[in-house]
Amino acid sequence: MNITAKTKILGILGYPIGHTVSPSMHNTAIKVLGLDMVYLPFEVKPSNLGEAVKGIRGLGMLGLNITIPHKITVVKFLDRISDEARLIGAVNVIVNKNGLLIGHNTDGKGYLASLKEEYGFTTKGKNIVILGAGGAARGIAAAIAREGARSITVANRTLSRGASLAKTFKSIFPHVRFEAISLNKDTIKAYLEDTHLLINTTPVGMKVNKDLKMPLSAMPKDAIVSDIVYAPMETLLLKKAAQLRLATHSGLGMLVHQGALSFKLWTGIDAPIEVMRKAALKALKMGGGR
Ligand code: NAP
Repeated sequence: MNITAKTKILGILGYPIGHTVSPSMHNTAIKVLGLDMVYLPFEVKPSNLGEAVKGIRGLGMLGLNITIPHKITVVKFLDRISDEARLIGAVNVIVNKNGLLIGHNTDGKGYLASLKEEYGFTTKGKNIVILGAGGAARGIAAAIAREGARSITVANRTLSRGASLAKTFKSIFPHVRFEAISLNKDTIKAYLEDTHLLINTTPVGMKVNKDLKMPLSAMPKDAIVSDIVYAPMETLLLKKAAQLRLATHSGLGMLVHQGALSFKLWTGIDAPIEVMRKAALKALKMGGGR
């Protein structure tokens, strides 16, 4: 890689950022396409976030990905945010458009693209249960509601947070039946009996041998169980689903597709999805993402 003053800078900003696989994914795509760009990880403390965002403009960077814990707080430092990011209340991509910093959110669309790619599954007319009500859950719920899901049930540890998501989204997507319930396996069981897709958006599966002990055997035989955690790629939830012969969907596809959508926003070029997937897998095998 020949870096000069003309090389355009991309990157990811988070805290901590140590094991992110995004640089491997994007730098491999940049190399394959022969672009004069580089993607760097930036570890930025919450107290320095405003200064770091100003640096995008100051240094003429093309843009950044934003990750935990800055996805919500970064909004106040931006000039504009897309309708999708406003609805979700979080930004995972900043694009520097001639000095104007615009926030987007590609998590939900990336998630749907990976479901479609792996299973040809669309959420139109389906009953879906989401575990968790954080930023990723909001992104996914928005995308699924826009695609025309029949019902979205949000089961969250803090019931009020799930209820707030359901209330906001119900007013924007009146055609979707939104409901918030507590994250209790007895309550959830009745919902799972009629669920086409269960999505875990909590970080629980990141800890080896931990899961939320969902009553998966209540699900229809053709249902899909999805976990957006990608390290490990097969969480305990997915392991249990596979043992019951249910279809499983890991977080890797979402990681790759949200990255590919970010890449397109910065460069206007369709990202080489397979190249990015291979690079992400390789980085994960080397211990990335933890
Ligand atoms: P977040 O905004 O902090 O939300 C976390 C959610 O998980 C909240 O609803 C929280 O419930 C719940 N939760 C946390 N710990 C829990 C526990 N021990 N038991 C039950 N519920 C628990 O985080 P996020 O940004 O949505 O990210 C969530 C996960 O998704 C992370 O693991 C992240 O790495 C992953 N992710 C993956 C991708 C991808 O591309 N595959 C993209 C984005 C995020 P409370 O409301 O009760 O606190």
